[in-house]
Amino acid sequence: MSEFELIQSYFKPLQCDSEAVDLGIGDDCALLRCPTGYRVASSVDTLVAGTHFFPSMPAEQLGYKCLAVNLSDLAAMGAKPAWFTLALTMPEVDTDWLAAFVTGLSSLANQYSLPLVGGDTTRGPLSITIQVQGLLPINDALCRHGAQIGDGIYVSGTLGDAAAGLQLTQQAITAPPRSLTVAEQYAISRFTRPSPRVGLGQALLPIANAAIDISDGLIADLQHILTASGVGAELQQQAIPLSSRLQDAKQLYHDALYGGEDYELCYTVAKDKQQQLESLPFDSYRIGTIIADPILKLYDERGRISVTGSGYDHFR
Ligand code: ADP
Ligand code: MG
Repeated sequence: MSEFELIQSYFKPLQCDSEAVDLGIGDDCALLRCPTGYRVASSVDTLVAGTHFFPSMPAEQLGYKCLAVNLSDLAAMGAKPAWFTLALTMPEVDTDWLAAFVTGLSSLANQYSLPLVGGDTTRGPLSITIQVQGLLPINDALCRHGAQIGDGIYVSGTLGDAAAGLQLTQQAITAPPRSLTVAEQYAISRFTRPSPRVGLGQALLPIANAAIDISDGLIADLQHILTASGVGAELQQQAIPLSSRLQDAKQLYHDALYGGEDYELCYTVAKDKQQQLESLPFDSYRIGTIIADPILKLYDERGRISVTGSGYDHFR
């Protein structure tokens, strides 16, 4: 199969109609349209086989997750998804793999009517780079640097599920097959099919002072907000929403604080906007408060501990 045929059969179908696209796949560049009064939010992520995902990960799951992690970045800025591009490097042309990969991609792209507008296809060790771009009103964005002293700190859903799902996925590779409980299946689905909080991100634009998506763990990602904003935080461990009951209590909190890949949002909201937040049709859980002292204090049921740990660091 030629590169041209490959693009026509597998990638061109992902180019849905959009007012924001003047010219899509097929020329040297795509021509994209940004409405007056808006600006473009742009984010790119690379997933490398063996580093970011198990080489055995089913192609459909991989297609879904690659796009999900990128959409999560748009969500964290409050942007509305507009286009994406795909740079795919693969060792050989495996049409079954490609068809499944595209199915995974399109299941999420269709949800947001998000057109694929271009990309690159090369031979080499499996690696997937997706760039997504979204639109934001020109004077509006949820940034990491906006947190104010006294803001409530919120998360959009339960934390630690993806970490539990990752552990179960790792076990499944080495252990003999067995049937999974409902709770185990849920944890695995939170790891393989995270839901980017795109609608919530846009709804938070007029409400939140700062936001980030939780990809490397609550403590590590909240710390990015604190550092960028020059503030600190007090967290109530008891207030962190948990759903998984697969681990003991200690492991549950550890996964919720340090486990990555939940792709929930973490955001800070001033007191006078908290009622507006509560009226949104999205879950928000208050877990703490922004303080002036630039440290992160974690209160557990026994007393006070200062937290200095962080999440996953690619170069560590
Ligand atoms: P060029 O050599 O000019 O970069 P290519 O042969 O790489 O062009 O690509 C031809 C067209 O197909 C371009 O419009 C490019 O954006 C698109 N394309 C190539 N690979 C992909 C892909 N994986 N997904 C989407 N579009 C792709
Ligand atoms: Mg090219």
